[in-house]
Amino acid sequence: MTAPAPAPGIAYDDATLAPAAQRAADDVLYRAQIARLFERSPFYGVKLRAAGIADAAGAGGLDRIAALPFTTKDELRQSQQETPPLGAHAAAARAEIARVFSTSGTTGVPSYIPLTRRDVADWVVIGSRSYSRCGLAPGQTLISTYNAGPFVAGLALESFQNVGVTHVPVGTGNTERLVTALRLLKPQALACTPSYAGYIAEWARQHGFDVRQSGVERIMVAGEPGGGEPDMRRKLEETWSAKVYEAMGLGDVAASLWGECQAQAGMHFSGTGFVHVELIEPESGQALPLADGATGELVYTHIRREAAPLLRFRSRDHVRVWTERCACGRTTLRVRCIGRTDDMLIVRGVNVFPSAIREIVNRFQPQVSGYIAVRPARRGVKQEPPLRVAVELAPGATPEPALAEAIAGAIRSALVVSADIVLLPSGALPRSEYKSKLVDYSEAKAA
Ligand SMILES: [Zn+2]
Repeated sequence: MTAPAPAPGIAYDDATLAPAAQRAADDVLYRAQIARLFERSPFYGVKLRAAGIADAAGAGGLDRIAALPFTTKDELRQSQQETPPLGAHAAAARAEIARVFSTSGTTGVPSYIPLTRRDVADWVVIGSRSYSRCGLAPGQTLISTYNAGPFVAGLALESFQNVGVTHVPVGTGNTERLVTALRLLKPQALACTPSYAGYIAEWARQHGFDVRQSGVERIMVAGEPGGGEPDMRRKLEETWSAKVYEAMGLGDVAASLWGECQAQAGMHFSGTGFVHVELIEPESGQALPLADGATGELVYTHIRREAAPLLRFRSRDHVRVWTERCACGRTTLRVRCIGRTDDMLIVRGVNVFPSAIREIVNRFQPQVSGYIAVRPARRGVKQEPPLRVAVELAPGATPEPALAEAIAGAIRSALVVSADIVLLPSGALPRSEYKSKLVDYSEAKAA
């Protein structure tokens, strides 16, 4: 099977090798990478030997990767605490590091993400693939709302430059400046979180500007789940009279690793030749076959990263996958994010993602605004039913008890969780310029 020719206007595509040839090429890189880990990464040397693997030959090829141990974010944090500043997992000398990004970290101590010059260039290629799939091309103007700052999202800006668009970085923190840029510069594309896309439209309307007049044709959302939820997407597309395309990445692996094409049928994998991807069953850690409709957690292995290569890194992103050829012609793996382990609650043994609750609540548009907050009764992951969910109504909607009951019924039947729905007037829940916080512990007692 030969790969289709890239669609016109797509400067960066990856479907150039047939799947078997790609797998063979990846296998060569993978074996060299394992050898590099033994040679240069003290963390992986210890970890692999502890798993009974004495050397690179003992690890074998990609067909045996499922026998190797996972890497978790907690291990990376611990590695940096014990061997500051970059951790014992780093596999490059300080002089080889070209860039150090950081993540904000919940404990106050940032975790550092080093890249060599080649790593930076690789991330730009991966990001360029992710962003150009939706039709973003030279000649178009794009407004971005990601702050360059210390975070990996800043690298998206270099990808935009690489794609060749006229890039207008506006950053976050000033919606008025953003709306002014929309009015005056008439961009074809806007890059932001899905939460912020909703907020910009609301703010503009309150200030006498309908964003449908902006001329924006494509909104490229990333940073949180939501852009792939059907009702949230439909509402954003109607509000903006534009198409919504989703992208996803993660700091420790690559800033923009997945990107949606114009068929809007899930995000295509963009790390071909750089990153190996697996799907696992999150509880048991067992590898799952990549089959149409399968769900599980994504696990990544760098096959080319120099500075901080990761082996079987658990992303905590839960996704649904598609492997069939997309309507766009590409055969790369596609995913849609279901939720993140970090946000997950366990209600009497049932795993519940707040984004899944929002997705169900959004079916009740136009009566609801799309803003929700899960307000657990106690701190921590484990909760007792019913789970309290604040649901904001659309402007002018009235808080009918029948609506609350219908929403609770839909949540119960889809997620097997009983919910206590509190209807709030329009505008009652906080808006975000970056990621929306779906869980609010302000009503929680200590666990
Ligand atoms: Zn496609």
